Amino acid sequence: MSAHLNVIVEGCCHGELDNIYASVAEVERRRGVKVDLVLCCGDFQSLRAEQDYEALAVPPKYRELKDFRKYWSGEKVAPVLTIFVGGNHEASNFLGSLFYGGWVAPNIYYLGAAGCVNVGGWRLAGASGIWHKRHYQLNHYELRADRVDVRDSVRSAYHVREVDVFRLALLGERTVDAVVSHDWPRGVEQFGDAIGLARKKPHFRDEIAANDLGSPANEILLNALKPAHWFSAHLHCKFAALVDFKDGKAPTRFLALDKCLPRRDFLQLITVERPKAGKVELEYDAEWLAILVKTHALLGFEPPPQRAPPIPETFSRPSSSDIASARTKAEAYCRSTGAPENAPLRVPPLTGPPWHPCRDRYNPLKEANPQTDALLKMLGLKHVVTVPVTAQMRPCPPCKPLASTSAHAAAFAAVKPIASPSSPPPPPRAELVLPPPTESSGVSTPPPPSPPKRSELVLPPPVNTSAAAAAAAAPAAPAPAVPTAAQPAPAIPTAPPAAPPATLAAPALTVSEINKMTVQKLKVALTQRGLETSGLKVALKQRLLDAVAL
Ligand SMILES: [Zn+2]
Ligand SMILES: [Zn+2]
Repeated sequence: MSAHLNVIVEGCCHGELDNIYASVAEVERRRGVKVDLVLCCGDFQSLRAEQDYEALAVPPKYRELKDFRKYWSGEKVAPVLTIFVGGNHEASNFLGSLFYGGWVAPNIYYLGAAGCVNVGGWRLAGASGIWHKRHYQLNHYELRADRVDVRDSVRSAYHVREVDVFRLALLGERTVDAVVSHDWPRGVEQFGDAIGLARKKPHFRDEIAANDLGSPANEILLNALKPAHWFSAHLHCKFAALVDFKDGKAPTRFLALDKCLPRRDFLQLITVERPKAGKVELEYDAEWLAILVKTHALLGFEPPPQRAPPIPETFSRPSSSDIASARTKAEAYCRSTGAPENAPLRVPPLTGPPWHPCRDRYNPLKEANPQTDALLKMLGLKHVVTVPVTAQMRPCPPCKPLASTSAHAAAFAAVKPIASPSSPPPPPRAELVLPPPTESSGVSTPPPPSPPKRSELVLPPPVNTSAAAAAAAAPAAPAPAVPTAAQPAPAIPTAPPAAPPATLAAPALTVSEINKMTVQKLKVALTQRGLETSGLKVALKQRLLDAVAL
């Protein structure tokens, strides 16, 4: 029996959760509907505390905690199930620790670097990050590295990797209902009003003319998955297109939305069919779990210049028995966490206090998460790009179970004197932009001036259930020189070197004070503490932050 799902798609979030949920409530009131799901297309900014600023790629003057910390600490609860992908403004330490996806707060779920889940049976895939050619074939090394240059790794951390695109492109057991990404698939504007877009955003003109607007990785995925819907953000404007694949398959409805600001088109309500009636539950996708298992050997953690293990030229999608095996493992785990009968793969809800382990001294992006440990254990996989939670990883002072952010701030202040951040003026109330009565689909579809360059990635045909049964009867063709899941995971590097002792005779400083210091003042402060004063400004600052964190 089918049912419906009311989904609100939101463009860039940029930490404005209060305004977004207020707008969702307004849509519910005006339209007389109950919203089942809020989908955020990145730049979510899941910042828990000032400590997370180090993992956020914005100039210091734009650093602001905004609303997420209230939802993370338990002071507020997201009123609607919220799912998001990462963009280029993220707490990359926190999101990196949830590489395979997970809850960042009660009712707020991150899809991981790449991921696929089912919401009430509606199949949703997500591709986090943005495109950058230079980092596409690197490993996800940022979180595992013993020591990183933060200036580089804080940016490369959100650049999309080939292995994630390959994994998503393997989804083929059944149609993907929607894909959410931060940047647009390259060339998608050619299927909508590209001329109007160029008029509205003149600085896109050259990229449109050169077929260079958007992400080539997402273009690969769009052509591989041909989902019913594709949602994006990043370019901070609303744009709709109807992508015709000219192969008889149903077109993809593409919709990009703006960021959450007054008088901007940042929200859209859509109503979609879902195959499952009853309570809307978030569930793992068995085929996706099988893909994670089958492609695990394609993950590497070695930093550049080392490149990621090559994507094999031929690679079989998971067979029906691979998928059944992943489903069995996941069902056993989910049942043990109380999954209901009608949703045996329900993602276990978040338990325990807000998670915020101590910052790693040499790599502020290195962070572990118990949810990642649990998922890898469920699938029988080892950590490769992530690290396990250890006993030494005691929560840092502000992360004890706390009822509110004010209590959180008080605990933080009690441990080390930190200036309570001067409360910023309340953000302007986002003006509700009501969607049109029916979903916008009347977009013009001019033929593209030249066919966009297609990907070199050649995928085998999808395995559907009946084809899989036939394939299971036939002997599988050997795939030469293809890494398999049976291959051992790359060796784990040794533990980071022990921290050098530092003295703290001088008065304590706050992180925000350190961030505002000039080079000269940094040198004075380091001298007062008996610390080395030579080196680049960033390194100086890091030394002082390390000393203060003691
Ligand atoms: Zn962005
Ligand atoms: Zn944005």
